[in-house]
Amino acid sequence: MSDIELKPCPFCESENVNLLSVNKDGEAVCITSTDEFELIHDMQEPTYIHCYGCDMDYMPDSDKPEEVVDSWNTRKPMERIMEQLEDKMDHSFNQRYRAFWRSSNDS
Ligand SMILES: [Zn+2]
Repeated sequence: MSDIELKPCPFCESENVNLLSVNKDGEAVCITSTDEFELIHDMQEPTYIHCYGCDMDYMPDSDKPEEVVDSWNTRKPMERIMEQLEDKMDHSFNQRYRAFWRSSNDS
């Protein structure tokens, strides 16, 4: 058995990050050791990393916990994180907001 090591959050630099999965009751459960990876493989449940500092969920394409941890720690899929963040934003609202500021600055 070995503990899971996660690097600090790339956004807020918080070290308060956890590997989480969802149990059959739909509750998020914290995964603290690599022993629990087998369980997740059997359950086919989504695995993700949550940062308690900025309240961000990081969900790579893979459901394999070791790959989720690996991609978090190597930070390769930064583009994918940005895509997920952009998806969460309301683009039309942002555009209207900017248009509002432009017009009020003009007058
Ligand atoms: Zn964070």
